[in-house]
Amino acid sequence: MHEFQYRNGELHCEEVPLSKIAAKYGTPCYVYSHRTIRDHYQKLDQALGELDHTICYAVKANSNLAVLRTIASLGGGFDVVSKGEIERVVAVGGDHHRCIFAGVGKTIREIEFALRLGIYAFNIESEAELERINSVARRLRKRAPISIRVNPNVDAKTHAKITTGTYENKFGIAFERIKQVYQKASRLSHIDIKGIQMHIGSQLTTADPFEGAVTKMAPLVRELRERYHIEFFSIGGGLGIVYNPALESGRPSWWRKPQAANILTPESYAQRLVPLLKPLGVRILVEPGRFIAGNAGVLVTQVEYIKKTGKKNFVIVNAAMNDLIRPAFYEAHHDIVPTRKKPGAKISSDVVGPICETGDTFCKDRPLPRVKEGDYLAILSAGAYAFVMASNYNTRPMPAEIMVNGKRASVVRERETAASLWAPERIPSWIK
Ligand SMILES: *Cc1c(COP(=O)(O)O)cnc(C)c1O
Repeated sequence: MHEFQYRNGELHCEEVPLSKIAAKYGTPCYVYSHRTIRDHYQKLDQALGELDHTICYAVKANSNLAVLRTIASLGGGFDVVSKGEIERVVAVGGDHHRCIFAGVGKTIREIEFALRLGIYAFNIESEAELERINSVARRLRKRAPISIRVNPNVDAKTHAKITTGTYENKFGIAFERIKQVYQKASRLSHIDIKGIQMHIGSQLTTADPFEGAVTKMAPLVRELRERYHIEFFSIGGGLGIVYNPALESGRPSWWRKPQAANILTPESYAQRLVPLLKPLGVRILVEPGRFIAGNAGVLVTQVEYIKKTGKKNFVIVNAAMNDLIRPAFYEAHHDIVPTRKKPGAKISSDVVGPICETGDTFCKDRPLPRVKEGDYLAILSAGAYAFVMASNYNTRPMPAEIMVNGKRASVVRERETAASLWAPERIPSWIK
């Protein structure tokens, strides 16, 4: 479910018209629905209700402090991949005892920081990292809680840039080697074995790869529980979302039918996995990022020009690939709709940004309502891996972020200013 719906022809986020937000705060801007984030968290929490479980939100998907505070207030934990992300969790009063620290390249400084703070577990991605964590812990006279990330060699059949669970990927330790690595960990003086982890990829739209991986892992989890008394099994994140959502009410005619029949829901995910997970007798961690935040945000932009060339109708907008790189980077589909409903025939359009890159294209040859200069468009499903991947390319200040809760819209990150972009830069005195 998400809270972006037309009412009286105006696209709303919860109770607030997006055009009103755009007029007040300017464009491009990201708009997030607080209620949607909560709803997604709670749906997953309920679906896993039969299990002793913890939802560790993947901070990298959307790390805005207001989003993190929302998760913290729901009692969630966090999956972090850098010292900076841990610091964000601490900044919002999140529980660092519910943080798991993933990533193949943890530095000594990051390990020290996490050990001193006291996190739930390090997800170990290599034998070299295991040794490094042991030696840092010894030096600090601490014990490091760890789980080892297993690469179950299951193809998640998602986009090549977001599949992580096969031996082609840099992540985790090969399934066949894993017992030896646990044995090694058990002999290290400053390591506490706490759990086991897997994460096979992102934007999975069926339960099959999860089921395959959990089935493959189950005997191993049992064995590790017997042998090392592990207390958790993290099954990673990766729950996919619908990038072409149909509105539940006020659905415009041009909206394509979603492939809703086979889409992964918290219920279908739980239905397939809970029977496999429950008998394992350990706590289950899940690390959703996209599922929580993806459909909880949109990028609102304004049409600058309409440019017709030959057969093409270019809609040039004021958002660009620096604001939302997913179409350029992952060939991702994002639905694009006017914030004011437009009846009438559609016209095949390319929605493009102002940057001098052919990749600065949000969609190609897509039937869209006829829009004109000044109209606002909403690029949907832009709550995850969107703002967090933004850059300042072309000295473009990053967009404002707004969070809506019911009738209220609040700025949760100010639009950057040009001067703030070059504030860290220095001109050496020897340049005349
Ligand atoms: C990125 C990542 C996640 C979140 O993935 P989503 O597809 O956003 O759910 C979870 N766990 C790990 C280890 C990750 O790297």
